[in-house]
Amino acid sequence: MRIQLDQDILQDHDEQAARNGAELAARGIMAVNLMSAPGSGKTTLLEATIPLLQQQVRVGVIEGDVATTLDAARVATLGVPAVQINTAHFGSTCHLDARMVAAGLQQLPLDDIDLLFIENVGNLICPAAFRLGEHLRALILSITEGEDKPAKYPRMFHEAHSVLINKIDLAPHLDIDPERLVQRVKEVNPTAAIMQVSARTGVGVAEWAQWLLERRRLLVSG
Ligand code: MG
Ligand code: ZN
Repeated sequence: MRIQLDQDILQDHDEQAARNGAELAARGIMAVNLMSAPGSGKTTLLEATIPLLQQQVRVGVIEGDVATTLDAARVATLGVPAVQINTAHFGSTCHLDARMVAAGLQQLPLDDIDLLFIENVGNLICPAAFRLGEHLRALILSITEGEDKPAKYPRMFHEAHSVLINKIDLAPHLDIDPERLVQRVKEVNPTAAIMQVSARTGVGVAEWAQWLLERRRLLVSG
């Protein structure tokens, strides 16, 4: 009985995710689910990326956090529509789910958006299990988190279309070899696009922006 109930809830969830995806696709919006541990630099990376994208596409953002509207306020200063979802209001705190994203979509001017970032709650575990209707999943791993994270949290890495190794500017100060970290990611996900970036200095951010634009071009043309 209990198992049946859980399955029904998951099926409802996946149906909502599919509806989100269909609504986004019908409008030609590419949605990118940004996932990482807390403090990996998701919002800072958005702040660095959005100005590069704005030259070619119209960007929107859904910010997911347990509480506060701090991140939505940060990205809104770039002149993009941004809505904050606080997961605590929905009774589940540690990840975004499809109904939260549906609520966010209702508050955004979807006719004015080509590329939608969905910044998930900082968490390396359950966001991997919840589809939101996104087209792409990007995982951000800061170099300070250590080489063991891909092996310890394999599902998150396995589900990602791209893995961004952030804070690469700190590498000279750490006992960690970026190339070895790239290898650890490849062992878990051989097909993900892996990029070394620094949201703070801007290294690699243009490459990431180009990757997103190319993926959107393929989506819209195909
Ligand atoms: Mg953030
Ligand atoms: Zn969760």
